[in-house]
Amino acid sequence: MKTELCHFCLRTGVLCPRCEEKVKKGEVSPSYMEIAKLLLELESKGFSALEEIMEGGVDERTFIEQLFWPSTLLTINKVWLPDDSVETKVILKGRRPWADVKKLAEVAKQLRGLSLRVEFVR
Ligand SMILES: [Zn+2]
Repeated sequence: MKTELCHFCLRTGVLCPRCEEKVKKGEVSPSYMEIAKLLLELESKGFSALEEIMEGGVDERTFIEQLFWPSTLLTINKVWLPDDSVETKVILKGRRPWADVKKLAEVAKQLRGLSLRVEFVR
């Protein structure tokens, strides 16, 4: 996936002229800005894989594992729904993720097109 803002802007939260133009023209959706903010927050909590996540340069399992850090990823299952869409069921264990699960699921949707259903086990 192509990132809509450059890494400099994602990291600093300050928009360079090129990205500012994109935002002005409405090429960058507000939800993307929200997600960029979330990912920045993630990085500030000591998470180092921001670029990988944004570029989608990791496999699905790694992506999900990183996204729900510091939870332990137990399993991922694909669930086919009657309407032919696919849901990805994610089972986590241990510590809660660094941010709200709903928000993280939205990140996965925006960045990778994944519909996640997240469950916890003890
Ligand atoms: Zn920029």
